Amino acid sequence: MIEASTDSAARENSVERRDVVIIGAGVSGLTTAHFLRRQGIDDVLLIEGAPQAGGTIQTRDLDGFLFEPGPNSLLDNSPALKQLINQLGLDERVAVAADAAKKRYVVRDGYLQPLPMSPASLLKSKLFSWGTKWRLAREPFVAAAPSDAEETLEQFVLRRLGKEFLQYAIDPFVAGTFAGRPEDLCVRSAFRRLWDLEQHHGSLIRGAMAMAKQRKAAAKAAGSAQGDEGEIQAGPSGKMLSFEGGLQTLVQALVEPCGADLRTSLAYLGIRRSDDGYRVTSMDMEGAHEVDARVVLLTLPAHTYPSLEFGDIDMPLIEIGAIPYPPVTAVYFGYNKRPTEQPLDGFGFLTPRLENRRILGTLWNSVAFPDRAPEGGLAMTTYVGGMRQPENTQWSDEEIVDVVYEELRDLMGIQLRPDVHAVHRWEQAIPQYVMGHQQLMEKVDAAEVEAPGLFIGGNFRGGVSLGDCVTRGEQVAGQIATFLRD
Ligand SMILES: Cc1cc2nc3c(=O)[nH]c(=O)nc-3n(C[C@H](O)[C@H](O)[C@H](O)COP(=O)(O)OP(=O)(O)OC[C@H]3O[C@@H](n4cnc5c(N)ncnc54)[C@H](O)[C@@H]3O)c2cc1C
Repeated sequence: MIEASTDSAARENSVERRDVVIIGAGVSGLTTAHFLRRQGIDDVLLIEGAPQAGGTIQTRDLDGFLFEPGPNSLLDNSPALKQLINQLGLDERVAVAADAAKKRYVVRDGYLQPLPMSPASLLKSKLFSWGTKWRLAREPFVAAAPSDAEETLEQFVLRRLGKEFLQYAIDPFVAGTFAGRPEDLCVRSAFRRLWDLEQHHGSLIRGAMAMAKQRKAAAKAAGSAQGDEGEIQAGPSGKMLSFEGGLQTLVQALVEPCGADLRTSLAYLGIRRSDDGYRVTSMDMEGAHEVDARVVLLTLPAHTYPSLEFGDIDMPLIEIGAIPYPPVTAVYFGYNKRPTEQPLDGFGFLTPRLENRRILGTLWNSVAFPDRAPEGGLAMTTYVGGMRQPENTQWSDEEIVDVVYEELRDLMGIQLRPDVHAVHRWEQAIPQYVMGHQQLMEKVDAAEVEAPGLFIGGNFRGGVSLGDCVTRGEQVAGQIATFLRD
């Protein structure tokens, strides 16, 4: 008896102790660790199940072609992102998308039509009928919904902008951002900025104009304050960015300072309350590992939650686990020489559901970022599946490459097979903020209140874009710092 309790006391003493343990070293976890270090909180352990950090950021070099199966770029519309880039010393390595990539195309009646970016181009656009153009002009006079109304994105757009705008602008846009469908997504949770524009300005167009004015003023102020220091544009100018060497450059800069405090190939299993916080259990080839921490931050995909242990913490595991994640397959084509005479002067194109294509859309990677392909070549990534056509991800690699080739031949006039190709399958790609998401997040808030020191992050909370993940990483780091100091 005495021997047993001595053993268990010895085991207790040998348990590693940390101030903070972060589970998941995707951009959310890595960014939070960075902002914690900036606040002087260094005793942070990161646990990552995969052999490498970065999560969905997985840049690959294919004989001089750069393939990003996950995110390809980010929007500089978040001050936290600008700060992060600056603090990591990456300003000089930022690659701003070329002007040539400013246009975005949408397929209509089998042809690529530029998405109008200004009132003048809207008038000339073949993407929308005169009825829709007139409808858009009347948008400022459509009454706002009550603030407690729960609407899908589809309902919101039908009410404010009409059916054709839904079908030829919003449906392809949602396929390109969430791999989702407008009828599933909750406008307030998934497109909070749109919802805010209506709530605060009464109209999307009036709101967008007010925001543009604010941005202009902010850019002017930042320009005079910061001069020519070589920084990227301040504030929400919405420029499309990446880095020399792709997004992996950002991951490397975030990983480097972590040193041995980042442990990979270590699968997190769960937590339970301990005397001074939480005991974290994880597992690798050598067996189980335990760490005691005052603070635990989870940045894991929602679909992993039902298999995790939470002890007596009341977490809505089944509901979190039920957040849909559609499968998406990314198909990369690299050409040493441009395979089409068609001018490629855009970021790529998206396909509306009504067009009955077998792909969601294609990014012209090397048009936006020329170093993605050898000089004179072309790099493209096409996405297949999503909520719209999950069954299309069941095709074999050969079938999916053939389908993409046929679709690009039809839509872009491509007549040559690629010199390089690659297929990457995301079985569970992007969380869908469906109806009820807001209420579920309120339950997660309540679970955090009930378990002080436990923080729930990751891209199923606060937005899926990299910019959103960075913004939230900074906010959570601030909350953790406050908790540790209180
Ligand atoms: C195909 C695709 C294209 C995209 N394109 C863009 C884009 O162009 N621009 C943009 O802004 N956003 C894009 N996104 C969205 C963006 O990439 C993600 O929302 C963001 O990277 C999520 O980061 P995260 O750290 O929250 O999650 P993840 O990147 O999913 O990281 C979670 C980490 O947790 C780890 N993990 C899981 N289970 C365990 C466990 N039990 N123990 C330990 N570790 C575990 C995982 O291995 C992973 O590293 C895209 C996403 C996809 C899938």
